[in-house]
Amino acid sequence: VRTLTVNAASTEHAEEIVQAVRALPEIEVLAVSDRTFSLHEGGKIHIKSRLPLHSQEDLAMAYTPGVGRICMEISQRPERVYDLTIKGNTVAIVTDGSAVLGLGNLGPAGALPVMEGKAMLFKEFADIDAFPICLDTQDPDEIVETVKHMAPVFGGINLEDISAPRCFEIEARLRQELDIPVFHDDQHGTAIVTLAALINALTLVGKSLETIKIVINGAGAAGVAIAQLLQKAGTTQVILCDSRGIISCDRIDLTPQKRALAVETPGPLAEAMVGADVFLGVSVPGVVGVEMVQSMAPAPIVFAMANPIPEIQPELVSEYVAVMATGRSDYANQINNVLAFPGVLRGALDCRAQALTATMYLEAAQAIASLVHPQELSPEHIIPSVFDQRVAATVASAVKHAARVDGVAKR
Ligand code: NAP
Ligand code: MG
Repeated sequence: VRTLTVNAASTEHAEEIVQAVRALPEIEVLAVSDRTFSLHEGGKIHIKSRLPLHSQEDLAMAYTPGVGRICMEISQRPERVYDLTIKGNTVAIVTDGSAVLGLGNLGPAGALPVMEGKAMLFKEFADIDAFPICLDTQDPDEIVETVKHMAPVFGGINLEDISAPRCFEIEARLRQELDIPVFHDDQHGTAIVTLAALINALTLVGKSLETIKIVINGAGAAGVAIAQLLQKAGTTQVILCDSRGIISCDRIDLTPQKRALAVETPGPLAEAMVGADVFLGVSVPGVVGVEMVQSMAPAPIVFAMANPIPEIQPELVSEYVAVMATGRSDYANQINNVLAFPGVLRGALDCRAQALTATMYLEAAQAIASLVHPQELSPEHIIPSVFDQRVAATVASAVKHAARVDGVAKR
């Protein structure tokens, strides 16, 4: 074999394939190329100018002296920056590289391919120009200061892959200080899509949000935001667990976010799950046993979203659960944040929202859920496909409506 070209999404698989071919008798592999690496050569996005630049006149209007009049106009009427520059359609994807995918603290350069990919998704799904910005600091004060100083260029800020609990403080401070929307996708994107899938799963089993018992395993960025949004949606019984079990009032190790969600009775996850209607996993692989699922209420709903390996493998519990979802594309019902963030930011930019509110998140979730028609709804289909062309526009229009209801839309 002169060149073995590997076409696999994960490095782990790519290496397995190469080794398997090398191990074949009478085959000598002279070179290996990996399509995923080839695709990344030179990066995944670029900047393109929108105007012709062929004559002196073009130059004099796009740049000096013509541009000077535009600068004066904006300095006299600041709101005009939205019409006369890229600001109104541009989002900063800001990370410190502290929690990159499930890979951990890779630092700013290691995070860049993910942020470029995210910029691609913003462009493809919502026609938003997003810049990857990877900061060489993990100090919350410095992150807040830096984002504040660069905010004039952007219509919105998408915080990404910043580890908990620092992400809560950073987001809260930026929301307070900036008059543009600030969205931490690992929190709110996850919460919106999870709620959307749950709304449809509950319709299938004939239960309602207000009366069910929900267990959330994992109290990091995703778990805390899901619990908060579920409360806004009207749930009354949510038990949150972390690596030490149920988050209960008697614990002395709780962060403010966990304390605000603590329940009375302590215990391990297995006890929390007895009689639960819904299990939402945003923790680590393999922490749920079959017997734990069997101890749940009739017609249990299980979303095991730890990536890439879920809290429990769907095939182990398929006969016991009413509805199952994961974060993966190779099983039914993929809970994927790309269903939420492009439309949320699109809607927020379109109405020049000064902030994002819980109503906007709730309506975004309802909008996603509504795209699965009652006739199509089944245990294998509770959430639209990420390639469903209607999703971003439907979410955007729900978000705009909610922004007006909450009085945060400037346009
Ligand atoms: P995170 O901020 O690091 O939080 C992880 C949480 O899991 C922490 O609260 C941690 O507990 C808890 N945990 C660790 N080991 C545990 C155990 N044995 N039992 C119970 N809880 C345990 O991470 P995140 O951003 O929230 O994401 C969590 C997981 O959800 C990741 O696997 C991520 O890929 C997945 N996720 C999936 C989607 C999706 O499918 N759309 C979206 C977001 C996240 P302590 O607080 O005690 O350390
Ligand atoms: Mg992320």
